[in-house]
Amino acid sequence: MNRQQFIEELQKQSGIKWDVIVIGGGATGLGVALDSASRGYKTLLLEQSDFAKATSSRSTKLVHGGVRYMAQGDLLLVMEALHERGIMLKNAPHLTFNQEFVIPIYTIWDAIMYTVGLKFYDLLAGRLSMGKSYFISREKTMLRLPLLKRDGLKGGVVYHDGQFDDSRMALALAQACTEKGGLVLNYFRVKGLLKNEQGNIIGVRAVDEISGDEFSINANLVINATGVFADSIAGMDNPAAKPTIRPSQGVHIVLDRSFLQSDSAIMIPKTDDGRVLFAIPWYDEVVVGTTDTPIDEISLEPVALEKEINFILHTAEKYLVKPPRREDILCIFAGLRPLAANPDNPASTKEVSRRHKITLSPSGLLSIIGGKWTTYRCMAEETINKAIKSGFLEKRECRTVNLKLTKLSDNNNVGRLHIYGDGALEIEKLIAETPSSGIPLGPRLPYTPAEIKWICRNEMPVSIEDILARRTRALLLNARASADIAPEVAHLMAMEFGHDTKWESKQVESYNKLILKYI
Ligand SMILES: Cc1cc2nc3c(=O)[nH]c(=O)nc-3n(C[C@H](O)[C@H](O)[C@H](O)COP(=O)(O)OP(=O)(O)OC[C@H]3O[C@@H](n4cnc5c(N)ncnc54)[C@H](O)[C@@H]3O)c2cc1C
Repeated sequence: MNRQQFIEELQKQSGIKWDVIVIGGGATGLGVALDSASRGYKTLLLEQSDFAKATSSRSTKLVHGGVRYMAQGDLLLVMEALHERGIMLKNAPHLTFNQEFVIPIYTIWDAIMYTVGLKFYDLLAGRLSMGKSYFISREKTMLRLPLLKRDGLKGGVVYHDGQFDDSRMALALAQACTEKGGLVLNYFRVKGLLKNEQGNIIGVRAVDEISGDEFSINANLVINATGVFADSIAGMDNPAAKPTIRPSQGVHIVLDRSFLQSDSAIMIPKTDDGRVLFAIPWYDEVVVGTTDTPIDEISLEPVALEKEINFILHTAEKYLVKPPRREDILCIFAGLRPLAANPDNPASTKEVSRRHKITLSPSGLLSIIGGKWTTYRCMAEETINKAIKSGFLEKRECRTVNLKLTKLSDNNNVGRLHIYGDGALEIEKLIAETPSSGIPLGPRLPYTPAEIKWICRNEMPVSIEDILARRTRALLLNARASADIAPEVAHLMAMEFGHDTKWESKQVESYNKLILKYI
């Protein structure tokens, strides 16, 4: 993917009508764009910031049915998600993993309830089950989780779910979409909708946030896939539209793996205030979270509240022998759930649903909001099917069920580089040509100059944040260590794109400001 070439392509196509314009480059928008492009529709995706900058890089990183939703009795949602979990693991083996979870058990009643409940979870997954659930003794629980507190522990329930790298998955979708003939542009903000005399939407007005150039782009169909921002696009269509989103913030902290000392994850199904809390090994660290705090302000950079951080630390302290302290935190990240609200009572959290919603406005704005990362593919399929049914597109079958996002196989044996999919082999080639480019940029993170170069040439980064936060996961894995390698990343990027030293120092300066929100 090359941003400059894509902009030239867009300019070349000016005056030509796209079949579909997707607004929003998170999981939902990229999924829809890939579905659309793979069916052969002429597809353009516009993202105002970087791909997955918002919620889609800030998830718990689970490809899951949602044990919690099963407890709430939403079996259809769980079944759909378990089915999609299987498809995602099959189509993106380079970015997904089978993760074992252990629920610590303290009462006989919990032992029965969770063992039976999770057996049912396996049953719902059918042939896409990732491994059997079963009860284990106290001793076996301690063997799996040596740093779990022993007081009152009766045993554990083991189950399996998927885990993944969310922003790299987003990039894999963007890449696949362009391979199918779609065009994806980051830092392209939609600032208005074009309408004909009848008031029907016929395209968008967009601005290239880097050059400031403005574009009017025509399309048969405009799809609003902007997550928590969906109401701002709906407002461009109808300024009197009622709010449809009730954002809820979820915070995670990242700790050194020594706090868990295990390959198994911990799932606490009911914390003091009734939330679910996970401690999950992720790369070389552990991600602990999350919270669920209704909030009013929608931002691209949500910031964790002190009470959310304290809640996670206190809960972790209750379960772990080595209690994490504030200074042990390697990163704090917050994301906003685009929950669908009741439009007649937007302040209410009672009606908030975790399911996705597809709506079509009278002027033809097709919106898809809510849902989960795990279900991005079926959400996309439903959205394009709805566009076909509504007469915007000619009928063509969905092609994403068997659409592999990498050709890499186990035989390729590329180690840690598998996260780059087919790019792993090209990175290996760069290292073979210049062995020094295979040496990590810093002692606490594994990323090498060869990876940064390959990313610059293939993944459309515009800032060093794009590389440190989403193309590598340096920011989330260790915010301070990511700042240490920022100057070198800026230099490598400047060499690739022909920026001067002033650009480098500005980038480092703004990155150092950014990380304050993550530490
Ligand atoms: C804390 C937390 C944990 C979660 N954990 C999980 C999990 O473990 N597993 C799971 O399956 N799901 C999880 N989810 C849910 C999942 O992350 C979301 O459902 C998903 O990421 C939403 O994607 P999206 O594309 O709808 O929204 P977003 O990722 O927010 O994308 C919307 C995009 O639209 C862009 N945009 C907005 N306005 C404009 C405009 N005018 N022009 C152009 N672009 C615009 C934004 O910049 C943004 O990038 C979690 C969510 C949260 C908050």
